[in-house]
Amino acid sequence: MEGFDGAGRIAQVLLPLPLPEAFDYAEPEGMELAVGDIVAVPLGPRTIGGVVVGLRGALGVNRPLRAVSGWLEAPRLPEKTLEFLQWAAKYAVDAPGQPLAIALRGLRGAVPRPRFGLIATGLAPARPTPARLKVLAAAVEPLAPAALARAAGVSAGVLKPLIAEGCLETVMTTTRSTLAAPDPGLPGASLNPSQAAAAHALCAMLRPGAFAAALLDGVTGSGKTEVYLEVVAHALRRDPAAQVLVLLPEIALTHAVIDRFEKRFGAAPVEWHSGVSSPRRRASFEAVASGEARIVVGARSALFLPFKRLALIIVDEEHDNAYKQEDGFIYHARDLAVTRGRIEGCAVVLASATPSLETLSNAQSGRYAWLRLADRHGGAGMPRVELIDLRLTPPAPGAWLSPPLIEAMTSALKAGEQTLLFLNRRGYAPLVLCRVCGERLKAPDTDSWLVEHRYTGRLVCHLTGFSMPKPKACPHCGAVGSLVSIGPGVERVEEEARLLFPEARLAVFSSDTTADPAAARQLIADMAAGSYDIMVATQSAAKGHDFPGLALVGVVDADLGLRGGDLRAAERTYQLLHQVGGRAGRAERPGRVLIQTYMPEQPVMRALAADDRDRFLEAEAAQRRDAHLPPFARLAALIVSAPDAEAADFAARALARAAPHMPGVTVLGPAPAPLAILRGRHRRRLLLQAERGVNVQAVLREWLGKVRLAGATRLQVDIDPYSFL
Ligand code: ADP
Repeated sequence: MEGFDGAGRIAQVLLPLPLPEAFDYAEPEGMELAVGDIVAVPLGPRTIGGVVVGLRGALGVNRPLRAVSGWLEAPRLPEKTLEFLQWAAKYAVDAPGQPLAIALRGLRGAVPRPRFGLIATGLAPARPTPARLKVLAAAVEPLAPAALARAAGVSAGVLKPLIAEGCLETVMTTTRSTLAAPDPGLPGASLNPSQAAAAHALCAMLRPGAFAAALLDGVTGSGKTEVYLEVVAHALRRDPAAQVLVLLPEIALTHAVIDRFEKRFGAAPVEWHSGVSSPRRRASFEAVASGEARIVVGARSALFLPFKRLALIIVDEEHDNAYKQEDGFIYHARDLAVTRGRIEGCAVVLASATPSLETLSNAQSGRYAWLRLADRHGGAGMPRVELIDLRLTPPAPGAWLSPPLIEAMTSALKAGEQTLLFLNRRGYAPLVLCRVCGERLKAPDTDSWLVEHRYTGRLVCHLTGFSMPKPKACPHCGAVGSLVSIGPGVERVEEEARLLFPEARLAVFSSDTTADPAAARQLIADMAAGSYDIMVATQSAAKGHDFPGLALVGVVDADLGLRGGDLRAAERTYQLLHQVGGRAGRAERPGRVLIQTYMPEQPVMRALAADDRDRFLEAEAAQRRDAHLPPFARLAALIVSAPDAEAADFAARALARAAPHMPGVTVLGPAPAPLAILRGRHRRRLLLQAERGVNVQAVLREWLGKVRLAGATRLQVDIDPYSFL
């Protein structure tokens, strides 16, 4: 079917590659493509999967086109999914194939085999000619067009009008999975009055075809999950074909929530995250497209799935930075969830105990409904938060736990209660330096320190994954035994706790000790069952787990997140520490949170101690408004990178020269990025700051259109950046 004879149609096929637009292919005779079809097409010497985004007549095309090779064994992408993918690319000022690549991840390994067929729908043709009737009689089971024509003894041309009239339809002959259906009729928790009021308001938002967004704002343990389970049940009850998507920031958290869904609905929801095997992903992708998957619980990439009838999206822990994808296609899943809701015409619920300023300002302005749950369920008290001023009660030299924290841990141990020590730093020490020459050990191709990991005996770059065994001698001056570890990571804090409490049962929870989801799950289950006395954890343990025996949370270094020039540093520190603290005393016993800091007078620390979120956020909002920063203004970062510094500078200067001059828009830079070298590439940054009314994407497109970059230079656009490295 290679080549093009000028008679058929042209299919515009979008490929999951960073290309600026869809490519044209000829539609083979009798294939009857439709927009959304996932097809195999030739690209250079290989065959690749893509999606049909448009079909047009071949009039005026006189160059030879290669033909579509066939359908992939995959369901058609719904129109709204396509619309969403294209919108997402435009918003990100990126190639449309980038979000498509995420959407098609579920099909990885799909073989380009045209396994589809035509089947009679039962509809009688307007003109029942003998040839047409023969075709319909033969099409009782799905047959490929050529096979059907042969079986009916007619020419392939007879099929076309029958398809057009709807007497024949194309079906994919995929092997169907059998998913257990959730039962929304099962009883849920009986909600307390404020939970019931929130659930009622949210259920009222579920109107077919109507977009609506809401913030479900409730302290940890107030029952936000119980409330949204009820809203999900309502959505499934009112429409037997409705689908619900629940987004979570972390896989570790996914398990806890999946268990709750399974209990509530008597069937496990469909899971979607990096830990799901590819055959299962494929089955899930198909079940989402067919509508069979009613509830999908997943990480940010689940947002790109081809839902047939999406009725509700829930974004749990909406403030979480894990929703921001910073590699490849750059997007924020919370923001895109709201867009998807708008495109699908469905409700979007954003849940958090510490909402982002973005969401809060939307709630305050009335764009989002705002439902608050002020108290923990069942009268459980909020934990008592105390600051430990490390200037007054410092830890012993070379140690990290202060006397007041050690004392509290001692009492907890005596009372048989659990302690969680929180330090958001993996490994043993964040820096290794030579005592003799002062050399700081850095990654070879990246401008970042190597982190020492004692369990594995290696030095690791956390940005690129580079690692090497810890050397015996300084690689710079050759001194033997001169390398010292500076600062603490979780492994080092565990070492200290082990020395202080030799009888205690200890565990470390970080992405290193929970390499696979099963290990994470086991560790969480063991902690919940009381098998450990002390857990030293990074933020992956801070989220959403219920540890009934946990009475004390110690924050080892509260100031960590405040260092570095990130505009959201204070907000993020508040969110993280509040959330960590929320682990303490979830059940009957009141919890205690001790925060070690050198800056107790910082507004974040004061707000944590006083449990005064709203005052803190007000002050934070006022500052951002004054400084023209999000959410009160728009930002976009441009990161230029090249294999050598000169090329990076050259490109950055060219961009600066072409920068827009218009009211409401300011361009800052270029400047070397704080992370000046990453994976051997030199990086420069420019920042575009604009008033809210400015169409930043249009400004960027025009700007970038004026600059031609040399081959090895790369430019990355980050709309509303979260990382300023
Ligand atoms: P959040 O999501 O706000 O942190 P959860 O929904 O996880 O709160 O609720 C915290 C704990 O309280 C959970 O163990 C939950 O099962 C329980 N809980 C909350 N509301 C109710 C209720 N109405 N009836 C029974 N248990 C509840």
